[in-house]
Amino acid sequence: HAKQQDDGTCPFDESMTWALQRRQQMTERLSAAIAGQRLELHFQPQVDLCTGELVGAEALCRWHDAVWGWVSPGEFIPLAEERGLIRPLGDWVLQAASRQMAAWRREGMALPGRLSLNVSAQQFADPQLAEHIATLTRDVPASAIGLELTESDFMRDPEQAVGITHALRQAGYALAIDDFGTGYSSLSYLRRFSADALKIDISFVRDMLESRHDRAIIQTIIAMARTLGMKTVAEGVESPEQAAALAGMGCEQAQGYHYGRPLPAADFAAAWARAMRR
Ligand code: C2E
Ligand code: CA
Ligand code: CA
Ligand code: CA
Repeated sequence: HAKQQDDGTCPFDESMTWALQRRQQMTERLSAAIAGQRLELHFQPQVDLCTGELVGAEALCRWHDAVWGWVSPGEFIPLAEERGLIRPLGDWVLQAASRQMAAWRREGMALPGRLSLNVSAQQFADPQLAEHIATLTRDVPASAIGLELTESDFMRDPEQAVGITHALRQAGYALAIDDFGTGYSSLSYLRRFSADALKIDISFVRDMLESRHDRAIIQTIIAMARTLGMKTVAEGVESPEQAAALAGMGCEQAQGYHYGRPLPAADFAAAWARAMRR
């Protein structure tokens, strides 16, 4: 804590207190939004790079605040992680995702493949995670769910991660390593984690057509995944040229604005009606 000055005030500058106040307010409002079930899930298609067919979707959390409007997940997810809200938020995501899949079924629809959910390090640290997920998604088989974990989550406590990833896969969940290439996984660790897919980080895809360097990294990731029996999913594919180049390099699946932006459930189902028909 800052020392008080002679006049009794703290030596923070104005902008600092403003930023702290906003974070404090945001924590309180996010907490209330979670408790009041006022978050939303949007759905982004994942497609087969060769055929263009829908092979799954990623669920992305959205928060609309009455005063601030849409708040970026890039802002509220790290805040939730820092302020102890990521478990309740993650639980809401699991329940909302299974509610949505059940609703689609009732309407005669089904998502082909799996719905991928993002899991934070703090959720991942729970040795009972597989049981916990099964409880919250009771109405949905594990074979309909994929979990995305970032590379750094695996590396925090690699020994524990090996145990939890095995338990999750044993239970039937597919695992993808998110933002791959931005961390420090060695080939030998990767082999022990036994994930199903590597998601090539958007930062390599963004400039891949101009940068030989980025193409080389993508090529290396695809070769690594092959060696270990994992598939690759490219993030952030925005153009047909990127899609063609990735397909040519042997990448299996893709996600990005070229195929579709994240959409509310009803809009997603309308856009992919043919693929969603049971
Ligand atoms: P992520 O898991 O890497 O998700 C991909 C992000 O890239 C999403 O941002 C998505 O909207 C965006 N994106 C997809 N295609 C394109 C594209 O073609 N171009 C560009 N420029 N961006 C694209 P979003 O929705 O803002 O989410 C940001 C991050 O917040 C996610 O990154 C994820 O780490 C986190 N997040 C979102 N929802 C959840 C959640 O339910 N739980 C947890 N733990 N984290 C979440
Ligand atoms: Ca993700
Ligand atoms: Ca991520
Ligand atoms: Ca990413």
